[in-house]
Amino acid sequence: MLDIQKIRADFPILSQTVNGKPLVYFDNGATSQKPQVVIDAEVKYYQEINANIHRGVHTLSQLATDAYEVSRGKVKEHINAKHAHEVLFTSGTTHGINLVSNGFTAILKPGDEVIVSSLEHHSNIVPWQMLCEKTGAILKVIPINENGELIIEEFDKLLSDKTKVVTVNHISNALGIINPIKYIIDRAHAVGAAVLIDGAQAVPHLKPDVQELDCDFYAFSGHKMCGPTGTGILYGKEEWLNKLPPYQGGGEMIKEVTFEKTTYADLPHKFEAGTPNIAGGIVLGTAVDYLNNIGFENIQAYEHELLEYATKRLSEIEGLRIYGTGKNKASVISFNIDGIHPYDVGSIIDKLGIAVRTGHHCAQPIMNFFCIPGTIRASFSFYNTKEEIDLMVDAVKKAQTMLS
Ligand SMILES: *Cc1c(COP(=O)(O)O)cnc(C)c1O
Repeated sequence: MLDIQKIRADFPILSQTVNGKPLVYFDNGATSQKPQVVIDAEVKYYQEINANIHRGVHTLSQLATDAYEVSRGKVKEHINAKHAHEVLFTSGTTHGINLVSNGFTAILKPGDEVIVSSLEHHSNIVPWQMLCEKTGAILKVIPINENGELIIEEFDKLLSDKTKVVTVNHISNALGIINPIKYIIDRAHAVGAAVLIDGAQAVPHLKPDVQELDCDFYAFSGHKMCGPTGTGILYGKEEWLNKLPPYQGGGEMIKEVTFEKTTYADLPHKFEAGTPNIAGGIVLGTAVDYLNNIGFENIQAYEHELLEYATKRLSEIEGLRIYGTGKNKASVISFNIDGIHPYDVGSIIDKLGIAVRTGHHCAQPIMNFFCIPGTIRASFSFYNTKEEIDLMVDAVKKAQTMLS
């Protein structure tokens, strides 16, 4: 059992008032809050060891390099990668996906196919569209059903020997649906396609095992898992990372440069051109430690309780519809109230201190499927409480009365 009050005390921002009301932060799907240990680690880096990495012989440079590589090792252990050099530091999920899609420009031929799903965040749609435009490959889309679940029989039908890349999110940011990625990975591999999993919404809630999943790439952001903004990880299987060309050219990513020819550095440096977010990369390791100390089994069990409770409480409201009613869900609820624009509800409950996301959640195809402009999305973290859910339900009821 988690001691939620003790955990909440780790997050200074949670004790704030907003618009004169205690903050209820239910926008964890957009970014999570940061515990004091993460904030302290960022300060400590700049106060004590700030220096550029992988370059200097001097002591601080060594300390910073060591701390950066220790953090890479922590992430490697956390996601169970085979090698530390399969773990690339990025600026976030978007960066990781673009690194891979750009690399496939050198591999795809006209008529090859890339499969994405209707449940994707724009950052796992647009880079693949750009890739298809550049190469003449064709984008295929796995459809969803009324519950917001992927129609897996349709995915099976899309697969063929033309399929070169399959990419889906582990958990949908807009609806909270958990996708059957193991099945998707295995079926895609059976036709020889590479698979990228967008894990941005999964890593705050669970611990992915990339070897067990057998995915070729797994991308995520640090800021949604209690880490700093501008940090992220791209896991890639060694054989794929060796096959893909570098994403950016610059310092740090070369072995030897002459004007005739440049040879690239070994992994992971081949993909880490320029000075990275050193502090952020180091502190991401602190965030991973923090989450593991709480324990992902505890996090999942408690967040499931919050999801069930919120679903039950919100369902009491007449005219309220929840989108994403599939069985397998993370602690995210997307909903609307009959005849009321989601933005109006969001604005009123913000006045009552409640932070939710309203809009299309960077997933317009899902909104088009349901023929709505957007939803109100409440996304819960392990530091949220049932009392906060009660406050949100009361606020939504109030907004409904005011707006109808
Ligand atoms: C947030 C998110 C992204 C984009 O992450 P960034 O940190 O903005 O790069 C991609 N996919 C999903 C599912 C997300 O939730």
